[in-house]
Formats: sequence, structure tokens, C-alpha cells
Amino acid sequence: MNCRHCNAPLLHKFLDLGFAPPSNAYLTKDDLNRPELYFPLRVLVCDCCWLVQTEDFAQADALFTADYAYFSSTSSSWLAHAKRYSEDVITQLGLSSERYVVEIASNDGYLLKNFVAAGIPCLGIEPTTKTADAAERLGVPVLREFFGEALATKLSDKGKKADLIVGNNVYAHVPDINDFTKGLKALLKPGGTITLEFPHVMRLIEEVQFDTVYHEC
Ligand SMILES: [Zn+2]
Repeated sequence: MNCRHCNAPLLHKFLDLGFAPPSNAYLTKDDLNRPELYFPLRVLVCDCCWLVQTEDFAQADALFTADYAYFSSTSSSWLAHAKRYSEDVITQLGLSSERYVVEIASNDGYLLKNFVAAGIPCLGIEPTTKTADAAERLGVPVLREFFGEALATKLSDKGKKADLIVGNNVYAHVPDINDFTKGLKALLKPGGTITLEFPHVMRLIEEVQFDTVYHEC
């Protein structure tokens, strides 16, 4: 496999956790009588750009299906963090009804509901059906698509460029991070702001956070 950022061959194993089924792909009662698919769970590191990345086995569209079962709002501390973030960023950037906020992987609307409440126009981009349904019930507009440069250009051509783009815990799930990043650039208004949250590899090493490594991309 080659590095998903710089395309150099990946020669170094960073972590080997054996085999694991995709997380959040819960089994039904009927599934218990069927074989379950396990993938090798290996993490590699690129010695050109030092991106730490899982070895690829499954395709995103096979895992982020209508049955995808992770709802961000189940974590009360995460909801509190999202509310605090929203209040801070609205103040810092002086966001108003004239501005436009886009969240990539908006899940069940756990974050954007705060912008809806503040009267700030927003859009969530979220490919999984059940979470998108939940967000829409909260009044959050959702575009049910995977994000990348093609989608960003389409939105931009329609005059839907964003003053603020938010991406929380999504980068690590994106198969083509370069295309995703070009999409962020294409969607952002000149002078706009992007905020991203993602796990930091130093923290993973220091605190032995091996359980944050799983298949979902
Ligand atoms: Zn690389």
C-alpha cells in the first residue's frame, strides 16, 4: 500500500492489533448465525510525510451505510463541547444571519443545531441515512453525500461557499484525504475559517490509546 497523502510506499508497521470486524457495524439476531467479516487491523507510518494510517481493506461506502449506528448526541460531554465550541466561534467570528456555516460529517445534528438556534444559516453534509434523518428532525438542513472536491465545486458553483467549515473527527475516516482537503479549499469563501478536530498521534502514543484504532474507512 502507498501513503494516502504523498503516495510513497508504506514500509513501516506502527501498530498491529491482529484482526477486527468494522466498528459500529452491529450484528442483528440473524447475523449471529452467519460468519462475520474480520479485517487485519494494522497501522502503518509513512517515512516521507509521517502520516500514521490504517492499512486499507474495506471501502467507505460499504461501512457508512444506512445502518451506520454511531450517533454523536449519545455523548453528553461531546454535546457540551459542541455547544461551547458553537458559542465561542459565533462570538470570535462575529457570525450572523448573513453568514453561512457548513459542517462535514454533521452526523445527527449534535453541533449544527446550535447554529440553527442562533439563526445562522447552515448545511450539514452527511451520507448516513439514520443520522441525517435525526439532524433534519432538529431543523438542520442536510445534504446526503460523501464530501470531496467534486461536491464542493458543485456547491461553490451554486454560490454556496462557506464562511465557516467545521470538520470534527472526520479526517481519519476519509479514504482520499487530498481530495477532501481540496474540497475544503473549494468550498471556503475568501477570508473564511476552517476548524478541524482529529486525534493526535503523540497523544495516542503517550496515553496508549490503542482502542481509538479501528476499521471504519
Ligand atoms: Zn506520506
